[in-house]
Amino acid sequence: MANSDASSAPLDPRLAAIRNFEGKYPKQLWWLFLSEMWERFCFYGMRGVLTVFMVEQLLIKEDVASEQYGAIQAFIYAMTFVGGFLADRVLGFRRSIVWGGLLMAAGSFTIAAAPQHLFYIGTCFTIVGTGFFKPNISGVVGLLYHAGDNRRDAGFALFYSGINLGAFLGGIVCFELGDRLGWEWAFASAGLVMVIGVAVFTATKHTLGPLGFSPLIPEGTTASPRARNTLLGVYAGSLLAIPAILLLVTNPDYTRAFMFAVGPIALIWFALGMRGCTREQVNKLIVALVLIVFSIFFWAFFEQAGTSLALVARNHLPTESLAGISITPNSVNNSSNSLFVILFSPLLGLLWLRMGRHEPGMVVKFAFGFFFVAAGFYVFSRLGSYADAKALSSLTVFSFAWFLATVGELCLSPIGLSAMTKLAPQRMFGIIMGLWFLASAYGQYFAGLLSAAMTDTDPNATPMQKLNSFCEGFGNLAIYAVGFGVALLVLSPVLKKLAKDQS
Ligand code: GLN
Repeated sequence: MANSDASSAPLDPRLAAIRNFEGKYPKQLWWLFLSEMWERFCFYGMRGVLTVFMVEQLLIKEDVASEQYGAIQAFIYAMTFVGGFLADRVLGFRRSIVWGGLLMAAGSFTIAAAPQHLFYIGTCFTIVGTGFFKPNISGVVGLLYHAGDNRRDAGFALFYSGINLGAFLGGIVCFELGDRLGWEWAFASAGLVMVIGVAVFTATKHTLGPLGFSPLIPEGTTASPRARNTLLGVYAGSLLAIPAILLLVTNPDYTRAFMFAVGPIALIWFALGMRGCTREQVNKLIVALVLIVFSIFFWAFFEQAGTSLALVARNHLPTESLAGISITPNSVNNSSNSLFVILFSPLLGLLWLRMGRHEPGMVVKFAFGFFFVAAGFYVFSRLGSYADAKALSSLTVFSFAWFLATVGELCLSPIGLSAMTKLAPQRMFGIIMGLWFLASAYGQYFAGLLSAAMTDTDPNATPMQKLNSFCEGFGNLAIYAVGFGVALLVLSPVLKKLAKDQS
């Protein structure tokens, strides 16, 4: 990430003051928490309506909508790789976060202006914007800590709760506004909160001391004409990328070609970045890479949330009422996961603490991530047997499955985020965060393909046949997930040795 201190250089006293914080969390973390919370509201609010919006408003067939969803999400996460790179080299993370946030807001407002007509172009703004915002704000969190500070995991756990608070609110508010008042309201609310997120960051970025200035314009200096042109080039380039992404995202062949190319390119770039690393650093980076590869499969299962599970919620779950408030199944699908994260993340943190020296290492936690997601998908696969004659199943069973899958997420996602900043030398924070999220891009892409494959496309299929087709698919995902968990357990001793993981 930009402006990370080189390990041999003396630490800027302001940075030392940030990192020598007393208590559990640095105060800057709370501001980052709030900015990211609103960004995730915008992101998950949009994610939560994408598939249903495409099927109902754009009249796209379910399997095609699933693939399209996967492509959009894949581009969103792939752009984080570019955003991390450009922050390191050109913009610095302060400018990247603000620029990304503004593009995201512009995207949401664009769609809100005419959802049926401007959906794809607005989505492309969001794709580029998230690329600038998401990896850089996560990287900043890592920079608030000294290398060996064991409060880092707790910091990421808190940050993760912020992510999920935003996701929880966005998942409900956007879907309900869209469903009840009209889809333009869903997108307008996403844009509005994104403006709030940018405002929070802008108003509090001065607390970050020397962190995050453009490497081309050191703090307190005025930009040379060359630096100014390079910055303008990045801004202009990111706007020009929007029509190109529009072309890619709306054409499955181009999306496929892009996904084939981007991974190898990223790996070559990563390998180049490794030059000059010590043996120990290389070993740790190899561990990071293995975790990244496994996470691709985790996300491919987990991100059924936005595709097959969104369709199951729409077509095969009843609207229920709790204390007089009617609960829409898609809101449950969009938000129960986040709610469980917020509720159970502190408990899991406590459990790890209570286990003391028996606390599992990160690789074993990753394995548990797969086992719990397998358990979740096993329960999703049972939805068919709880269905009534109208092929409407049980919201309670569905929510319980989400609980299990969420425990899996908590064993993998925040741990992985924190592990990346532990396993990479600081000068490679941008690239490693980029790779971590690139894995999500692949995961999202495969999630779309998996969901499309699970969809019964027979126009004469009965609702029950459609539900059963999804359930069969969920059962298969559960089996694959167990396989990945076992593979991680087998690899764990070797990886632990390479990472010198003391836990
Ligand atoms: N739910 C997490 C977030 O929004 C993780 C997403 C991911 O990496 N795929 O940040």
